[in-house]
Amino acid sequence: MPEFNNVKIVLVNTSHPGNIGASARAMANMGFTNLVLVQPKDFPSGVAVGRAASAVDILGSAQVFDSLEEAISDCTLVICTSARSRKIPWPMVTPEQTAVKILEEKSSHKVALVFGREDAGLNNSELQLGHFHVQIPTDKNFSSLNLAASVLVICYEVYKRKLSSQSKESSSEEDYWDQDFARSDEVEHFYKHLERVMVAIKFHDPDNPRQLMQRVRRLFGRIRIDVMEMNILRGILSNIEKSIKG
Ligand code: SAH
Repeated sequence: MPEFNNVKIVLVNTSHPGNIGASARAMANMGFTNLVLVQPKDFPSGVAVGRAASAVDILGSAQVFDSLEEAISDCTLVICTSARSRKIPWPMVTPEQTAVKILEEKSSHKVALVFGREDAGLNNSELQLGHFHVQIPTDKNFSSLNLAASVLVICYEVYKRKLSSQSKESSSEEDYWDQDFARSDEVEHFYKHLERVMVAIKFHDPDNPRQLMQRVRRLFGRIRIDVMEMNILRGILSNIEKSIKG
């Protein structure tokens, strides 16, 4: 399971302790453990514990700071969330690009994902502490997600990206296959050879080709032919040619 030990989820000035609990739960679902609170209005709180379900450990180990500057002081990458575009244009990233940036960062480097107040989000000076801003795409008439829902969406993107990069690393087809895949020039030679043979056996009329070669290409394009398979197919074609010549 991915564990994003170097990623801090920073909640600034949260009013409702239920949102802190629900954010902790969302973090736990996605393998995040570091919750950082900047001037929470009501914390610790039984309401937060109630909403955290099995993620109470995250609440127990949450760090609390007086300012966002202090909370992110040891971070090399800071990404601030915002429900709307602000007056000052800032480098914007999508949730997917946020995931890429976080996973590209060395695991020894700390990263902060910063979330704002329920009523007013992050103010301009807080937003300017971020290297990037991320906005979750929404219906244009209602862009503001619940705080914990936005924590879930961003953490989910990072989790999903991590899972897909892990599965690529561990089980790319090329890693476990016993042969190299054929190069495209080899496959092109095969198509030419196949076409010659199909003409020779009068299966294919070059004056009336219809879509035969496109369909053949599509057929073989659906699989990754390996070098050994290519040699077998070329061998079959050569023997057909030999037996036609008699
Ligand atoms: N009225 C506020 C909305 C705050 S919602 C505003 O206009 O900024 C509370 C927090 O949830 C935001 O500060 C942000 O951290 C997060 N959030 C809500 N909707 C979001 C969205 N569409 N994209 C990114 N973050 C969002």
